[in-house]
Amino acid sequence: MFEDLRDLYQEVIFDHNRNPRNFRVIENADRKVEGFNPLCGDRLTLFLTLDHDVITDASFQGSGCAISTASVSLMTGIIQGKTIAEAEKLFTTFHDMTTGKEEEIQLEAVGKLAVLAGVREFPARVKCATLAWHTLDAALNNSGNSISTE
Ligand code: ZN
Repeated sequence: MFEDLRDLYQEVIFDHNRNPRNFRVIENADRKVEGFNPLCGDRLTLFLTLDHDVITDASFQGSGCAISTASVSLMTGIIQGKTIAEAEKLFTTFHDMTTGKEEEIQLEAVGKLAVLAGVREFPARVKCATLAWHTLDAALNNSGNSISTE
């Protein structure tokens, strides 16, 4: 099962890196937070539109390595239509998977995000994969305009 994921991992990262989804600015976004991963040099700006507690739109700008770009591209797609609580739960599940805290890859819980769990075989890249999610966490908690993974 993990070998299949490894192939899929490379395929999905390649695809999202070449054609990032939701790569645009949201004018008048409700939340706008910059994320920075100094270890790799990944920088992104996350934009969110909220309707009460539902994320109705999500997009990003910035530049980073293939893993960080694929991660934020996937994330901005997957969180649209989710409630803040659902997005926070995904963040926790994803974080536990990428850091290896959770051994089981929960395909049904995180869907396509599971491919990024492959990053846990490369510990130096975990922050590339989780940058988007730490930025999202700050945006949902309204805890400042920028975050850094270090
Ligand atoms: Zn990176």
